[in-house]
Amino acid sequence: MSDIAVLGAGPAGLMTALKAREQGHEVTIFEASDRVGGMAASFEVAGQRVDFGSHRLHPATDPEIMSLIKSLLGDDLQTRERHGRIRLKNQWIGFPLRTLDMIKHLPIRFSGAVAFDTITKPLRSSRTSDFESEIQRRLGPTVAREFYGPYTTKLYGVDPSHLTTELSNRRVSAAGPLHIIKNAVRASRPEGRIFYYPRRGYGQIAESLAETAIDRGVKLELRSPARQVTTKQDRVEVTCGNTSIDVNTVFSSIPLNALIQTLDPPPPAELVTAIDRQRTRGMLIAHLVVPRSQYTPFDAHYFPGLDITTARLSEAKNYRDGDDPDDLTVLCAELACWVDDEIWNLPSEDIGQLVEEDLQRAGLPSTGHVHVEVRRLPSVYPVYEHSTVDAREVIDNWLHEPGRVVSLGRQGLGVPDNLHHVLAMGSRGAAALDASGLINQKAWQDSLSEFAQHVVQD
Ligand SMILES: Cc1cc2nc3c(=O)[nH]c(=O)nc-3n(C[C@H](O)[C@H](O)[C@H](O)COP(=O)(O)OP(=O)(O)OC[C@H]3O[C@@H](n4cnc5c(N)ncnc54)[C@H](O)[C@@H]3O)c2cc1C
Repeated sequence: MSDIAVLGAGPAGLMTALKAREQGHEVTIFEASDRVGGMAASFEVAGQRVDFGSHRLHPATDPEIMSLIKSLLGDDLQTRERHGRIRLKNQWIGFPLRTLDMIKHLPIRFSGAVAFDTITKPLRSSRTSDFESEIQRRLGPTVAREFYGPYTTKLYGVDPSHLTTELSNRRVSAAGPLHIIKNAVRASRPEGRIFYYPRRGYGQIAESLAETAIDRGVKLELRSPARQVTTKQDRVEVTCGNTSIDVNTVFSSIPLNALIQTLDPPPPAELVTAIDRQRTRGMLIAHLVVPRSQYTPFDAHYFPGLDITTARLSEAKNYRDGDDPDDLTVLCAELACWVDDEIWNLPSEDIGQLVEEDLQRAGLPSTGHVHVEVRRLPSVYPVYEHSTVDAREVIDNWLHEPGRVVSLGRQGLGVPDNLHHVLAMGSRGAAALDASGLINQKAWQDSLSEFAQHVVQD
C-alpha cells in the first residue's frame, strides 16, 4: 500500500486526492485554513453565501470533468444565462458582447475604428514581442487601447508592453476581430452565453468533491499548515500542523513560495531567488451588504477604465436560483493591487467607501451599504514580465523534475488558470502515479506541456 500526502484543499488538491484514492492509494490532505475550496470556496456574509469574486463554471470544461461535477451536484448545478455589462467609452454594453447591443450602444467612431482595424489586420506585422503588441496585432489598436490596455494595467499593475506574449496567449482567446464578432453573434442567442453555477455558491463544487473524497477514504486535516517536507531516500516525511506522516509522494497545491520554505533538504538558492523575483498581483475582495432585495438585475459589471479602481462588481444572488435572504443582497467588488500598496491595509469601511465612489463615477446608484467585509488574496495573478523570463525558466525546469514532491494547481504552477484547468491537473497528477505511489516523470512532463496550452475563460 502506498501513501500520498496532498498539501492544500483547493480544487486542485481535492481532485488529486480523490483520483489518487480511486487508484487505491492511502491519501491524506493537509489544509491550512478551516475550510476547503481555496480561492474557489464560498462562505457566508450576512447570512448569504458568497464567493471570492465572480466565479462561473465555463462550458469549455472538459466533458469528463463536467460529468464528474454534474454527478456530484445533481440538480444543484444550474445552467444560467450570462447577464453582465461592461463600461466602455462611458457606455454600458452587454457582456459577453452581443452584436445588436454593440451596434446600438458603441459610439459610431469607435465601431468605425474597429471595422478599419479588422480590414487592415493582414497589414499588421506578425512579429510581436509583448502582450501589448500581440493584442494590437490580433485585435487592432482600438480594442487594445480602449479595452485590453487599461484592463491589463489594472489587473497586473504594469504597462502591457512589459508583459510577455505568454500571458496574452494564456489570457486572451480571441484570435482577431472576426473571432470577437463570431462570439458576439453566438452570444446574441441565450444558449450562446450560458454558464454553470451551483445553487449554494461556487464553493459547493469543492465541498462536494471533499465529501466524496472523504466518503471514499481520504483523510482531510483542516487547520494544518505545511511545516516541513523532508525527502529521505525511500520516502518523504511530512509535518503539517501537529501531524507527521511518512508518504511515498507529496502533491502540493500551495503557493510555491510557501512550499519551498518547508523543503528539507532546502531547494537550490537559484530556485529560491527565482521564486522571490516572480511577482504576483494581489486582490481585495470587498463584500458590501445592501439592505434591499436586489441592487441591479446584472450578474456582473466590468470596469476596464483606469478612472475606476474596482475591476469588477458582482451580485451573488443573480448567479443562481437559491435560498438567499429576501431583504438583503451582497455585492462583491474586486480590487487588484500589490500587497505593499496603501490600499491593501485600509480599513474595510474605507474600502467600502472607495467602491461607492467608483460606482458613482460609473453612473451607478449608491448601494446604501450597511456593512463591509474585506478579504485579502495576496497572490491572484502571476505577472509574467520580460524582466523575469529567466526566473520563470528556472522555476519551470524545477517543476519538470519533481522527484517525490510534485507541485500543481494555480499557485503551485504560477498560472492564471480556471477551476476546470486545475481539476484536470489534479486528475493528471494522480494518473501519473504508479502502483508504488511514485510519479512517472515522463507522464507528468507530458501533462505539464498540455497545461501550458490552457487558455483562461473570463
Ligand atoms: C477573483 C477570481 C475570480 C475567478 N473566477 C473564476 C471563474 O469564473 N471560473 C473559474 O473556473 N475559475 C475562476 N477563478 C480561478 C479559481 O478560483 C482557481 O482556478 C482555483 O481556486 C485554483 O485552485 P487551486 O486548488 O489550484 O488553488 P487555491 O484555490 O489557491 O487553493 C490552494 C489551497 O492551499 C491552501 N494553503 C495555502 N498555503 C498552505 C499551507 N502552507 N499549508 C496547507 N495549505 C495551504 C489554501 O488555504 C487553499 O485552500 C477565479 C479566481 C479569482 C481569484
